[in-house]
Amino acid sequence: MRHLFLLFTITLFTLVSCGQKPEKTKTTFNFNLSDAEWQAKLAPEQYRVLRKSGTEQAFTGRYWDNKKQGIYSCAGCQQKLFLSETKFKSGTGWPSFYNFIDNGIAIGTDNHLGYSRNEVHCSNCGGHLGHVFEDGPKPTGLRYCINSASLKFKEK
Ligand SMILES: [Zn+2]
Repeated sequence: MRHLFLLFTITLFTLVSCGQKPEKTKTTFNFNLSDAEWQAKLAPEQYRVLRKSGTEQAFTGRYWDNKKQGIYSCAGCQQKLFLSETKFKSGTGWPSFYNFIDNGIAIGTDNHLGYSRNEVHCSNCGGHLGHVFEDGPKPTGLRYCINSASLKFKEK
């Protein structure tokens, strides 16, 4: 029974990740701050998105139309998440990427943890970044729809 469940989980995970293998969202993270510390560290909109799973309004963020070359990191812990080379114009009003930097993100796969299955998190601090959808461009076919507020861009 345990094996069956494991197999089911792995199958589900493979379907969601489509060849790319983001890790599953954990319950504990390497980078930990208390709620009060997060509030002190982050701007209100960053806190609302990263720590309260909020979503910024479309076409309002800093980076949805950013075409500069560089690296997008987590606004909470500075972990590198996305490269400008994988950013594409999705027309949604949110920064959209078809791939991520290795080990940068985690995907919620288990509703028991309170994460929806397509919710994208920083793998280092657990901060909410956005969601992943299966209507992205090649080669992955995935669209990582990310809030600008959760990102920090550094131009190359
Ligand atoms: Zn982070």
